[in-house]
Amino acid sequence: MIVTFEPEVSSSHVDAVIRLAERYEGVTARKYEFRGAATTITEVHLIGSTATVPTGVFEGLPGVLKVVRVSVKYRLIGRHAGMETPEFEYNGVRFDERSVMLFAGLCAVDTPEHVKEMMAALQAAGIHTTRMGAYKPRTSPYDFQGLEKACLPWVFELAGKYGIKVIAMEVTHARHVDEIRAALDAAGAPTGVMLQIGTRNTQNFELLKQVGQQQRFPVLFKRGMGISLEESLNACEYIASEGNPNIVFCLRGVKTHLGDPHRNLVDFAHVPVVRRQTRLMVCIDPSHSVGHLDKAPDGLPDIFHVVGQGIIAGATMVLVDFHPHPELALCDGPQALTLSHLEPLQSYIAAVRRTYEAVSHSFI
Ligand code: PEP
Ligand code: MN
Repeated sequence: MIVTFEPEVSSSHVDAVIRLAERYEGVTARKYEFRGAATTITEVHLIGSTATVPTGVFEGLPGVLKVVRVSVKYRLIGRHAGMETPEFEYNGVRFDERSVMLFAGLCAVDTPEHVKEMMAALQAAGIHTTRMGAYKPRTSPYDFQGLEKACLPWVFELAGKYGIKVIAMEVTHARHVDEIRAALDAAGAPTGVMLQIGTRNTQNFELLKQVGQQQRFPVLFKRGMGISLEESLNACEYIASEGNPNIVFCLRGVKTHLGDPHRNLVDFAHVPVVRRQTRLMVCIDPSHSVGHLDKAPDGLPDIFHVVGQGIIAGATMVLVDFHPHPELALCDGPQALTLSHLEPLQSYIAAVRRTYEAVSHSFI
């Protein structure tokens, strides 16, 4: 059961609900706060033997907006009874469904010069969000594994210099979260980090619990490449169940040769499914889905086409590999867009989004 409060409810009203809930045997109550740009929404989630707890005891209490009995599945991330997608703000960046956010950057951090070139291009394009992989889980142990914590000080410093507010950065071990926290603090927090859970760690439940137990960093959760959507959503629920509600769900294609010649079978038809079943914002990763820069006869790379497919389906975040010199990239160079693609991609995204906004709701 979820009790949602009026915006900016007083903590005494919330505490009263928690106390009342915990009078029921076998019920524990947890408080969640969704901090949007303008308002903070508070929810209290009742966990345990809630079947016999009547919703009526909470309805009408001061500060309570609504009370919803939720199915066990996707208790926290699920879109129960038409709930809204909660917004959150992190380091001055709003995560909501009002526009499309572009996280363009290096698959793997390699040199300060390349990071600088990338970030300078983003700044010139008015973009404050990027991706920078420091910890790379590679298929082969002999492939480049990322510069790890050694690159964090200069990556964060450059980010601050070029006005980057949020960097999506994959973590594959809880230790990496500590390293990121320490490096950010040592640098005076010139930027922010969104912790990325990669497809290879979708069901690394201990890692999910660790990123869920902290609330400083939001989480970008990638679907598992070889498991069902339901399994991925259940895994994502772990993060929320540990206390971190600031999650974006990312589709990145699934592993099957039926997707050939794309690297993965593009699964952006699941954008509306994820948005219906959960109240999470949905991100798409066209780079790891498609895996190359081949163009269609219309001149657009397949990567652009699938971005369009994701956005027209309601995705509001795009995570995409760029490299100022893809031939020098140490990871995934063949799928990296170059800096000359940045402005066209922005315009293309804006055009598709305008169409989405114009047509959504108009066919029902
Ligand atoms: C990545 O985004 O760098 C990455 C490794 O993606 P995925 O986990 O989707 O393969
Ligand atoms: Mn990659």
